[in-house]
Amino acid sequence: MTQPHRVHVVGAGLAGLAASLALADAGVGVVLYEAAPFAGGRCRSYLDAKLGCRIDNGNHLLIAGNRDAMRYADMIGSRDSFTGPRTALYPFLDRATGERWTLRPNTGKIPWWILSPKRRVAGTGPFAYLSARDLADAPADAVVTDSLNPKSTIFRRLWQPLAVAALNTEVDTGSARLFGTIVRETLGAGGEACIPLVPREGLSESLVDPALARLRAQGTNFRNPSRLRDIGFEDGRAVTLDFEGTAETLKQGEAVVLAVPAPVASRLVPDLTVPDEFRAIVNAHYRVSLRGDAPYFVGLVGGLAEWVFRKTETLSVTISAADRLIDRPAEELAPLLWADVAAAYDLPPEPMPPWQIVKEKRATFAATPAQLKRRPPTATPWSNLVLAGDWTDTGLPATIEGAIRSGFRAAAHLLGRDQTR
Ligand SMILES: Cc1cc2nc3c(=O)[nH]c(=O)nc-3n(C[C@H](O)[C@H](O)[C@H](O)COP(=O)(O)OP(=O)(O)OC[C@H]3O[C@@H](n4cnc5c(N)ncnc54)[C@H](O)[C@@H]3O)c2cc1C
Repeated sequence: MTQPHRVHVVGAGLAGLAASLALADAGVGVVLYEAAPFAGGRCRSYLDAKLGCRIDNGNHLLIAGNRDAMRYADMIGSRDSFTGPRTALYPFLDRATGERWTLRPNTGKIPWWILSPKRRVAGTGPFAYLSARDLADAPADAVVTDSLNPKSTIFRRLWQPLAVAALNTEVDTGSARLFGTIVRETLGAGGEACIPLVPREGLSESLVDPALARLRAQGTNFRNPSRLRDIGFEDGRAVTLDFEGTAETLKQGEAVVLAVPAPVASRLVPDLTVPDEFRAIVNAHYRVSLRGDAPYFVGLVGGLAEWVFRKTETLSVTISAADRLIDRPAEELAPLLWADVAAAYDLPPEPMPPWQIVKEKRATFAATPAQLKRRPPTATPWSNLVLAGDWTDTGLPATIEGAIRSGFRAAAHLLGRDQTR
């Protein structure tokens, strides 16, 4: 197909926004549709009535080495909206022993930090880190615990928290190979790549609102709420898009980027295989404002909470692969998680501040070896229809970086610039 002059992008999550930005930048006319009343999908901020302040739908951490997310932030001029430590600093607390340490990978590619007890995980020696090399040679069907010794201290204090957060899947079912990619692109890429970036205000302010503003300035037509119900196909191409109440006929030179979640895409596109197993994420938010010199976040091992983030008006907790917690009442989880948060930030355990618990049952697809095989490529059998979304075959887990990469790839494919074809 020659470069389209008009592209209909369906879904205004990060994948759809990234595709729209890249297409609009190349001078293509873009119409962006979104079923929800807001853009951002699974990565957005909103006013929580119970807490009386804005919260993010989930705590999201970016790192400076997320090259596509950084390109996206540069395109929308939002790099300055992120904050965080100037160097790679990851404070941890072991709730079982009370020990604290700060992981500090050095800048530069030679990882001499593993030789320094002050920079590495407490209770580990330098050779323990070499175990990560085994992930690179892991067979496609291996899980994390096949490649790394789950009884070792480094596993409990580093590999497990990193794998569960990145894959949103338990270590005994998550893909070892995919975790290997994460380790290579984070710790393996040097301290500079590991510098953490957290949105100063919120996810929408850093990643969604400036993207919409730029798209509007470029003439993109943003239609929402506008839910795609059906796609008509003829002669090897998509020919109609049926939205509730309106239908679009696709003329020659028009194309579609389908950037909706996997279950929606599989209903709209015939014979499409997609990941169909999901994992939950639970977030808890406590209305507390702390001084600016308190850590931006703390990693916890041996507790119920996994990562605690200091936001402007809240302390917010994330638990990944949290299916075991989905059915537990929020009233039961709130005090348990608060005990971890209070310990992480040296706060009095009583009284518990106002709280909110947000459970996302199908937060991301499960990054198991079997599910990875179900990820489709960008291109489809229809010449003018491409796919985007964190569930497509990006080579990354379901993350901001993966979603943005998938959107850029979809645009590149339509523009004839796809390096992966
Ligand atoms: C609680 C939580 C915490 C997370 N934490 C992290 C983290 O720390 N780091 C990280 O990198 N990633 C994290 N993620 C993952 C990250 O948020 C996602 O990978 C990313 O936002 C997915 O973007 P997407 O565009 O692929 O999909 P989505 O955000 O799901 O976007 C799809 C869009 O399509 C729209 N849509 C659906 N059906 C239709 C239709 N029929 N017509 C039109 N529009 C439709 C939806 O409303 C949605 O806006 C987290 C996710 C969750 C839920």
